[in-house]
Amino acid sequence: MSGFVFSEKPIQIESGDGTVLYGDDGTEYLDMGASYACVPLGHGHEAVHDAVTEQFEKLTYVQASYPNAARTALYERLADSAPDPIGKTWLCNSGTEANEAALKFARSATGNSKIVATMKGFHGRTMGALATTWKSKYKKPYEPLIGDVEFVPYDDGDELADAVDDETAAVIVEPVQGEGGINPASAEFLRRAREVTEEAGAALIFDEVQTGMGRTGTLWACEQSGVTPDILTTAKGLGNGFPVGATLCRDWIADNYGSHASTFSGGPVISAAAGATVSTIVEEDLPGHAGDVGAYMQERLDEELGDEVRDVRGEGLMVGVEVGRGANRALKQLALNHGVLALPAGRTVVRFLPPLTVSEEEVDRVVDAMAEVVGDE
Ligand SMILES: *Cc1c(COP(=O)(O)O)cnc(C)c1O
Repeated sequence: MSGFVFSEKPIQIESGDGTVLYGDDGTEYLDMGASYACVPLGHGHEAVHDAVTEQFEKLTYVQASYPNAARTALYERLADSAPDPIGKTWLCNSGTEANEAALKFARSATGNSKIVATMKGFHGRTMGALATTWKSKYKKPYEPLIGDVEFVPYDDGDELADAVDDETAAVIVEPVQGEGGINPASAEFLRRAREVTEEAGAALIFDEVQTGMGRTGTLWACEQSGVTPDILTTAKGLGNGFPVGATLCRDWIADNYGSHASTFSGGPVISAAAGATVSTIVEEDLPGHAGDVGAYMQERLDEELGDEVRDVRGEGLMVGVEVGRGANRALKQLALNHGVLALPAGRTVVRFLPPLTVSEEEVDRVVDAMAEVVGDE
């Protein structure tokens, strides 16, 4: 084998159906990570399958300077679903690119360069987005990255207010930190971020790459605080497994974005996948389901794990369990002994980001498995 970068797990995945993945030996796994929130509708969803095959037969690819119905429909879908007055969409291929564009657009529209980001935040791994990511392990080997980035403690409105000034181009923040350990921000913090950026003429960027697409109980996590950013980025679940990201902007950003482009921006097949994904999530009220099942999951985890873990927290189907002695051991036992695939978030948190279609019965299975794994320690 010649791949590198990823250290592979000893489970070969062959196929998937809904919330279930199958190993090449026929073993069934409950996919409670949805491969980092990338399949909100579950594996092999019919609406996405049909949209993609139909579009593939008609036209696989045309560059974005030619209008195409699938792409136009996605632009409209996203504009309709985004909180007003966000109405303009830039399409790309990943979360880091969506944030890279957001940072460029904010610098161009404000004429400033300083970016304020949060400790424990994660925004991707290209040079610009990486500079706004907190963890030094991800950054050190590649420095120097872009300059003029200041970090403030997450969820601390006063520190944020101190850092934002008239040289600031943008504040970038996740409404719930994912990689950083499943940390929800208070509505008060997000409102303060809105106030101080507005006063300073800076752009407020919400990174909803992980929290978006209904995961937290509303289509966009920011809806719950009533705060509308200037730029909202999303990716991960947007194409239900197909690579697509989006940078959604208010007009003052879109009208002054500078010069930016990408060859594959909103290809027809990818746009068809994303259009079908967003439509299905909205039409089947999967955010509502995510909110209900997520609340049920947190309640059950709290009941069953109680004092044996340090914390159970999250928002909707973005749930973290802070275990006592390192998450990796728990994750390995969940996978190998219980057929439950989950994710880490840092060293101590077991993270669940299941398909939004997950049922209470499946959640019960996971809670029982967690109780056994945690009880074993
Ligand atoms: C995963 C993630 C990214 C990066 O997305 P990629 O598609 O891996 O580039 C950025 N921000 C957040 C909040 C993420 O969870």
